[in-house]
Amino acid sequence: MSKLGILCCSSVFFSIIFIVGLNNSAAAPKKPDMVIYNGAIYTMDVQKPIVEAVAVTDGKIVYAGSFKKVRRMIGKETVLTDLQGKTMTPGFIESHGHIFSLGKAKMRHDLAGIKNYQELVNIVENAVSKAAPGEWILGRGWHQSKWDEPPGLMVRGFQTHHALTAVSPDNPVFLKHASGHAGFANAKAMEIAGVDSETVFTDDGEIIKDDNKEPTGIFNEAAQKLITKHIPEQPSKEVLRKQLSLALQECVSNGITTFDDAGATGEQIQMYQEFLAQGKLKVRIRAMLDGKDKLLLKQWYDRGPKVNFDNPFLTIRSIKLISDGALGSRGAWLLEPYTDRQNHYGNNLIRMDKVYEVATDALRYGFQLCVHAIGDRANREVLDQYEKALKENSHIAKDHRFRIEHAQHLSAQDIPRFSKLGVIASMQGIHMSSDRPWAIERLGKQRIVEGAYVWQKLLQSATVIINGTDAPVEPINPVACFYALVTRQTLKADPPDGYEADQKMSREQALRSYTLDAAYGGFEENIKGSISVGKLADFTVFSQDIMKVPDDKLLDTTIEYTIINGKIVYKAG
Ligand SMILES: [Zn+2]
Repeated sequence: MSKLGILCCSSVFFSIIFIVGLNNSAAAPKKPDMVIYNGAIYTMDVQKPIVEAVAVTDGKIVYAGSFKKVRRMIGKETVLTDLQGKTMTPGFIESHGHIFSLGKAKMRHDLAGIKNYQELVNIVENAVSKAAPGEWILGRGWHQSKWDEPPGLMVRGFQTHHALTAVSPDNPVFLKHASGHAGFANAKAMEIAGVDSETVFTDDGEIIKDDNKEPTGIFNEAAQKLITKHIPEQPSKEVLRKQLSLALQECVSNGITTFDDAGATGEQIQMYQEFLAQGKLKVRIRAMLDGKDKLLLKQWYDRGPKVNFDNPFLTIRSIKLISDGALGSRGAWLLEPYTDRQNHYGNNLIRMDKVYEVATDALRYGFQLCVHAIGDRANREVLDQYEKALKENSHIAKDHRFRIEHAQHLSAQDIPRFSKLGVIASMQGIHMSSDRPWAIERLGKQRIVEGAYVWQKLLQSATVIINGTDAPVEPINPVACFYALVTRQTLKADPPDGYEADQKMSREQALRSYTLDAAYGGFEENIKGSISVGKLADFTVFSQDIMKVPDDKLLDTTIEYTIINGKIVYKAG
């Protein structure tokens, strides 16, 4: 049956229900559960882009328009939410993050905000003073390129372990890079792992060594496993529960109403199911299956996608694959060598025939494929596989919405291919802000201008861009990301006009990438992403007007309320 046919049948069906419904309750139409008013309300609905008030019943929007009209709808039980001049938008959708890692980061030493290597050493020294003998010290989030002073001796652009080892001679230490694509170990951790000058690693990754062939403590990509396999932690169910709870709380306190989990294991999906059954999944999750796990994929191909267009709190219809590493650790796979490392092209982390195979299966079984690609080579190769699979399966590929996660560095000739193939660019504005100051060392001026974080070039070629933070790689706060999108500055407002200023998003485009287009990125634009009658009552309320305040005031914005399914799940203070 054609898609149109299904639509017609279902609208006849709904009309019948509607008439029956009216007959049953014609006397007393249900009063709204909640009315929200007295603020700047941006709807993302072209019919009525700005409204004065919104009414909600049973978790859905039943009215969006004038306050005069909504006032007549208010009943005794209706909860009145006075915005007091604050700003409301459709609920913000984090289109690419890692929820269990976000929870885990909350449980570990958070190194995201540290200013320099000495601060990292101080945190570890303090942790050692409280640790049991031999206990592992674990942390995450450091980024050497963000430090305000260089850490003394550097090898291949990274610090060495000596200062770290000096404060923790007996406790093994392993600290993940913010990107997750590298890790930093002390001498004790390397001793336990049996890593020394003789150790060679031939898989996709690298042990960085100094001029004397001694390991410096930095392990890139898969080489991290040499150390991590010795960390005695298979997270127990209890630990997973705690991680998920902490992460969900982090989402709501940052205005996030839907979260795309970019790669969930079977165990994590079970935990989602458990939370869902117990009514504890308070943020709407769209989980991508971890595509490395063949058995997991087989199980879901047999079962088919889990979708619900009424009131979804757990959607499973996507698959995640990773094709290359990150730029910071020089793992992004490039067409030409890195500008700051001779003959080095980065790391390809998956065979392309595997991408093709999963793309084909995804089309066959009704799943969406989302492949991580950062470097221009990775992006091109993945687009090639998508193109091939889509062409060969054109009869079932009409609305595939395949995505490339990150799509950070593109060759000019590949930019128009996104819209041509219908591929969504799932990007993270905040990465530009954090990475651009040093990305130019990796890529050089020409590649940066041509294809790095080229939001306007993609939008002008009619590509759908969806946004997020890759939390916990970056803090999940959407305000910082929104700021990065519209200013193309670092969070210290550098440079004054922004990097490659012609690629800035307008406020409207930035909001759209976090709401309506982000809903599209998960096939949900008919139920989410705008404040329109019939859609889910998911809203984010900001302390000030993010569509109007001057650029230099944007970062002062805080989250006032997060509303999901018509319920306030977070309130500031
Ligand atoms: Zn990610």
